[in-house]
Amino acid sequence: MNFQSSVSKLPQVGPSYALRLKKLGISTIKDLLFHLPHRYLDYSRASVIQRARVGETVTLLAKIVSLKNQYTKAGRKMQIGQVEDESGKLTVVWFNQSFLVRSLYPGVTVSLAGKIGWFGRVKALVSPEYEILRGAAPAIHTKGIVPVYPETAGLSSKWLRGRILKTLSTIDKPEEYLPKKILVTYKLPTLSEALQTIHFPDELNTAKKAYKRLAFEELLSLHLTSLKRKKSRQKYSPYFKIEILRKEVDNFINKLPFVLTAGQQKAVGELLGDMQKNYPMNRLLEGDVGSGKTIVAAIGAFVAFLNGYQTVIMAPTQILAQQHFNTLSELFSAYKIRVGLITSEVVIKDLGRIDIFVGTHALIHKKINFDKVALVVIDEQHRFGVEQRAHLVKKIGRSIYSPHTLTMTATPIPRTVALTAYGDLDLSLLSELPPGRLKVATWVITPAKREKAFEWVAEKIKKDKAQVFVVCPLIEESAKETMLSVRAVTKEFAELKKSFKSTSIGLLHGRLKAKEKDVVLSAFKAGEIKMLVSTPVVEVGIDVPKATIMVIEGAERFGLATLHQLRGRVGRGQTKSYCLILPDSKALKVATRLKALEKGLSGFELAELDLKLRGPGEIFGTAQHGFPELTVASWQDAELIKESRDLAESIFKQKHLLKQVDTKNCFLVAGSHEVV
Ligand code: ADP
Ligand code: MG
Repeated sequence: MNFQSSVSKLPQVGPSYALRLKKLGISTIKDLLFHLPHRYLDYSRASVIQRARVGETVTLLAKIVSLKNQYTKAGRKMQIGQVEDESGKLTVVWFNQSFLVRSLYPGVTVSLAGKIGWFGRVKALVSPEYEILRGAAPAIHTKGIVPVYPETAGLSSKWLRGRILKTLSTIDKPEEYLPKKILVTYKLPTLSEALQTIHFPDELNTAKKAYKRLAFEELLSLHLTSLKRKKSRQKYSPYFKIEILRKEVDNFINKLPFVLTAGQQKAVGELLGDMQKNYPMNRLLEGDVGSGKTIVAAIGAFVAFLNGYQTVIMAPTQILAQQHFNTLSELFSAYKIRVGLITSEVVIKDLGRIDIFVGTHALIHKKINFDKVALVVIDEQHRFGVEQRAHLVKKIGRSIYSPHTLTMTATPIPRTVALTAYGDLDLSLLSELPPGRLKVATWVITPAKREKAFEWVAEKIKKDKAQVFVVCPLIEESAKETMLSVRAVTKEFAELKKSFKSTSIGLLHGRLKAKEKDVVLSAFKAGEIKMLVSTPVVEVGIDVPKATIMVIEGAERFGLATLHQLRGRVGRGQTKSYCLILPDSKALKVATRLKALEKGLSGFELAELDLKLRGPGEIFGTAQHGFPELTVASWQDAELIKESRDLAESIFKQKHLLKQVDTKNCFLVAGSHEVV
């Protein structure tokens, strides 16, 4: 039996258990062994009945003296009896497990583990873990450090323990792929040891070391894979030779209505530098909402145009594509650059004469001749699936040719994470906002003050002609907007309409037709609608400089970085702007977390905080497609990520080591972690 064998090959795993295992994502032996404990019970204190004190968690080896079913005063069924060892007798009690009396009859030797407590006035073990000992087999459920696993209906930790123990003793020993030198330097146990001790450690510290080994291996293989991919990209060549016509570019930049920030200048430098190279660019531009990523991409498109080539810009939503189309059309109107919009609803004819294609994923599916595309820009890249991105790039490239690719995101991915997940991309960061932006005054408002807050908003609309976003959370776990969320936002819209009788209110969500969205958005932009109630679709895109108030409902459902992005929708003009954060929950913990938003931290700082407080799910989890899922390691292991990254880089520099640590032989192959 080896790691690839099916779990159904194991003794006692019939079709029904195989099905339950499947529910936990386990189909091979390897999956089973990588179903790691999420905690351990500490039953390392072996004791005898006489010495066991109330409050102590102990393991006792004893014989059953008696056990019978009995009703409690409240009518519950309990199993009560006595056990003994050489030192004395002790009362044991279980509830609702009538079947126990059949196997725990007088004379049976059991190992019991649990906390000594009181049952009425007698010292007793209440609901202890138990296992009947037969022959020489040691206790695995009640003694030492006992693993507890993620479970599912009909599949208990107890059952898993037994199967995993059996598996470990019967499979072929896994090959060690890490060179000895690395094991020694990083104080890591061998793979075979680690697999044994992560499940059945002799002490907690051993389990920790085993975890480190497995996590380290996973991260290392991720790093090596991405470094390899980065290297292999250099074998491709860009189809078109790009020359940077410095004078024209400077001219264009000088004519912009604003001066580029230092970050933008640096990013433009990096972008144009890449475009001149003789292998395709693969760069990620990260920057807060409003940091001005569009213009950086536009300059790239301008350079492609000067060289006689086309650019494709893909955006995740119709709204955003339309907005880019408008921005770019205006920006390039003086240069005879033809910008075309391609979405599922809009198609322009005469595609051959287009210099810049702007569109949604319709760009992938529509029949378009992309013969002269030198640059592909993917905006809000995390909104697209890996396949979609790859598809577009593939559609444009051919054989050994691949276009230059610039992906952009407003998701502030902490550096350690970006290095691992996007290790094969080059990073450009816009860490500052253009000057002159006013700080958005932010208040976290408790449910008790909710009504007052809306009165204040009404006043602002009346007196200052303020325009307001009201964002409702997505109800489901998935990042997609579904009917449930649409209903929630529609209900909120109806309620606000009732209480704001004299205000014109609009509703925006993903289920509206493009035309309907257009009508609502145009009316909001024109100031005819004062209050726009929407799902987080506004997060991606909408640029309405006149809007000055952002109200976020159900705020505890959002991560800090997302709230920060939503807030970025206001404060774009010169008028003082406000963000009202309204959690539904009264919990102090929620309020404390949200208060971080009042402090004026950057998106990156908030993302780091999210990572610490709530784990990675907030930043990328469901909202992020194409993000590698870690089996063992955690994104919060900053130290380990850095250590393994450094090692991966040094391995890459030493050819002999690289041969030994072939990523293909990595136990946790990172090959499925495709990132475009
Ligand atoms: P994002 O990074 O969120 O995509 P945008 O590219 O949409 O940001 O830019 C937000 C706004 O800031 C736009 O109205 C844009 O014209 C403006 N902008 C971009 N760069 C600058 C700058 N250097 N100075 C002033 N305004 C700028
Ligand atoms: Mg943008």
